[in-house]
Amino acid sequence: MTTFDPKLAESDPDIAKLIAHENRRERDSIRLIASENYASRAVMEASGSCLTNKYSEGYAHKRYYEGQQVIDAVEELAIARLKTLFGAEHVNVQPYSGSPANLAVYLAFCNAGDTIMGLGLPAGGHLTHGHSVSMTGKYFKSVPYGVRRSDSRIDMDEVRALAKEHRPKVIWCGTTAYPRTLDFNAFREIANEVGAILAADIAHISGLVCAGVHPSPIGIADVVTSTTHKTFRGPRGGMIFSKKEHAAAIDRAVFPGLQGGPHNQTTAAIAVAAHEAMQPSFKTYARAIVENAKALGEVLTSRGYNLVTGGTDNHLILIDLTNKSVTGKVAAQALDRAGIVTNYNSVPFDPRKPFDPSGLRIGTAAVTSRGMGVDVMAQIAGWMDEVLTAPESESVVTRVANEISKVCSKYPAPGIY
Ligand SMILES: *Cc1c(COP(=O)(O)O)cnc(C)c1O
Repeated sequence: MTTFDPKLAESDPDIAKLIAHENRRERDSIRLIASENYASRAVMEASGSCLTNKYSEGYAHKRYYEGQQVIDAVEELAIARLKTLFGAEHVNVQPYSGSPANLAVYLAFCNAGDTIMGLGLPAGGHLTHGHSVSMTGKYFKSVPYGVRRSDSRIDMDEVRALAKEHRPKVIWCGTTAYPRTLDFNAFREIANEVGAILAADIAHISGLVCAGVHPSPIGIADVVTSTTHKTFRGPRGGMIFSKKEHAAAIDRAVFPGLQGGPHNQTTAAIAVAAHEAMQPSFKTYARAIVENAKALGEVLTSRGYNLVTGGTDNHLILIDLTNKSVTGKVAAQALDRAGIVTNYNSVPFDPRKPFDPSGLRIGTAAVTSRGMGVDVMAQIAGWMDEVLTAPESESVVTRVANEISKVCSKYPAPGIY
């Protein structure tokens, strides 16, 4: 046995080199993936800490292992901060990520074979809201609702009609590729009319919600799930808010229903992110995300790009490229070569297949974390237009990549050195 404990670069140069490459990639490119962000150095320190060594199945003061003096305090602090920040009656911070948080909702409220409703994946919903390839579409009878053909917005009349016809146990409201504000009160009314549990999934928008930049479903929905790593800018993780009456069911569903020991290093990092989100500067940050998205959208529109729903209310823009000579996949790959990282995405009623659809999804949470403002958004829109107009041109790609790396060097990203 040796106690020699070398640094990563010495013990595993292969992985160290790959991490260094990723660090450089995140530093030198423009990250427009709507679900990504830059967690702060403080968040990363907590998530890389010795808390990863500790087993703590159960909840504070009701654990199955000894030695919880520190872990209980960490989890209680994370919960207390999130309750204050979101105004919630109950919080569970143990879900390993957004998808397991959603599974806990099913386990808490449904039996296999029950009917559930959510926004269909092709219309901007998430896999875990009942999509056919997800276990949530296999183990439950899924009734997806969609968006209107005329304006690509969620059609609340359709939601009501489907809910009345199918009487679901759970109705999901929450999206992964939808640029508009969600009307949680309208969903609440429908859930009340059919006696359904209303579950809001704010994975993308939780940072905007806690900053007051998007309406909050807390106090309206029975249960609210979220990731912690998108606009909330924490570590990769999940959380569930609920009314007091559902607290026991949610906690039992997460543990022992679905998971074993919580990832305590993540819980600590969520507490750090919550502390950051409680600072006045986070409100400024969240407002800037939305201003940047609007600015980026306006310049893209002025250059002839069609935005699904005609614009955005949040951090996200869905570009419909049907009127352009480039598909979503070709566009995303050309932009990536130029240093602008996005993802191809279906648009509502997409005539093309999901693996090479007509849309491009972008978001402004990560670029805003670097302090980039509306002037840089205009530059980004210009670069995107140049690349998408000549996606095969290596000279355009190279020139844009050079300009981008120069601009990136002026805007250091949190957590990246
Ligand atoms: C990202 C996302 C999730 C899943 O989160 P993971 O952490 O990737 O499991 C769930 N719901 C919505 C709406 C999302 O956007």
